[in-house]
Amino acid sequence: MSEQLSFVSPTANSPWGTYLSQVDRVVPYLGPLARWVETLKRPKRALIVDVPIEMDDGTIAHFEGYRVQHNMSRGPGKGGIRFHPDVTLEEVMALSAWMTIKTAAVNLPYGGAKGGIRVDPKKLSLQELEKVTRRYTSEIGIIIGPHTDIPAPDVNTNAQIMAWMMDTYSMNVGGTATGVVTGKPLHLGGSLGRVKATGRGVFVTGREAARRLGMDLRGARIAVQGFGNVGSVAAELFADAGAKIVAVQDHTGTIVNSNGLDLAKLVPISRTDGVVGFKAGGDIVPNEDFWNTPCDILIPAALEGQLTAERAQKTTAKLVLEGANGPTVPQADDILAERGVLVVPDVICNAGGVTVSYFEWVQDFSSFFWDEDEINVRLDRIMMNALNHIWDTADKHKITLRTATYAVACERILMARQERGLYP
Ligand code: GLU
Repeated sequence: MSEQLSFVSPTANSPWGTYLSQVDRVVPYLGPLARWVETLKRPKRALIVDVPIEMDDGTIAHFEGYRVQHNMSRGPGKGGIRFHPDVTLEEVMALSAWMTIKTAAVNLPYGGAKGGIRVDPKKLSLQELEKVTRRYTSEIGIIIGPHTDIPAPDVNTNAQIMAWMMDTYSMNVGGTATGVVTGKPLHLGGSLGRVKATGRGVFVTGREAARRLGMDLRGARIAVQGFGNVGSVAAELFADAGAKIVAVQDHTGTIVNSNGLDLAKLVPISRTDGVVGFKAGGDIVPNEDFWNTPCDILIPAALEGQLTAERAQKTTAKLVLEGANGPTVPQADDILAERGVLVVPDVICNAGGVTVSYFEWVQDFSSFFWDEDEINVRLDRIMMNALNHIWDTADKHKITLRTATYAVACERILMARQERGLYP
């Protein structure tokens, strides 16, 4: 007999609603561990903080910040920090829960957590951004730490922001605690390969999925939504493997070129002007047309809830690689499965980032740093082993890769839960 949570009102397609329906689908495959499943349907701990700063013009501004620790049965909390004007507690809860599933799916010794600030960082000066970051870190400092909960970059946060977080936490506790955040600059305990790790993981899992589908990557047409750290890196790796990037969408608009966009030109221009800055290299089309651009592989690598039922019906892709967290709503998942479109779910597809975050954390503790080849070899091995195990589970039960990933992950999480037992 468990009561509904009072502090969120999820809908069918909202992030937390999407997550809850993903958990419901796995229950039949959990056997006796299903007794513990309610554990996954509520966060262990959720902190809401006020972040006041003095702006450059002398006014005082307040922002709302969150850190949610969804589950810590298998280890400390782990997950990024998002700066976005639309961030809500409900969104951060879902993102923290997806981290729990993700770290368990690739068998990293972590639970799941996530944080965010409801702020548009593009409207802040560098100094204001630093103040927001430092005050937020100080406020959540009561629940984070190298052995309790380790933040990392996510949407609109980067190595510089991680450096400020590490410094603020370190100043407050005394000493230099490099292991409190990952995704730091290289000379501050960061790891080689971390920046490209998420995009690389999308490529590695996508290449394996394509091989199993009998799809040749040479000449394969790829559409990428979101051209930040995840989408652009994955696009480059697929292009290197011979694929054609035929459509790219970011916050500025959508560019298409059926012969393949020239990434050597598009990537640098997109950093300053967005993808529409590369008018010379393709046609700018209305955003909704992105979803019916003829393609073989679709990579949603932006925000949640983008692949709706209607868009799932339209896409010509045979393979969807979820670079973003939670891009596909449950109804779209069903439509894609019915249409025979294979979805490599976020909780395995984009796990490369947190995997190299784990390497960074291990290197920080041992104060011994690996070369990039070693990082990439280990990353590829972990991603391939995890994907193969999930694929076998999907074949055995005749279920989607998403439900299979949840089956593998939830068994690990709930087994740990059961073995630890309830306190008191
Ligand atoms: N923000 C990334 C994710 O969603 C990385 C998290 C981490 O490295 O802890 O997986």
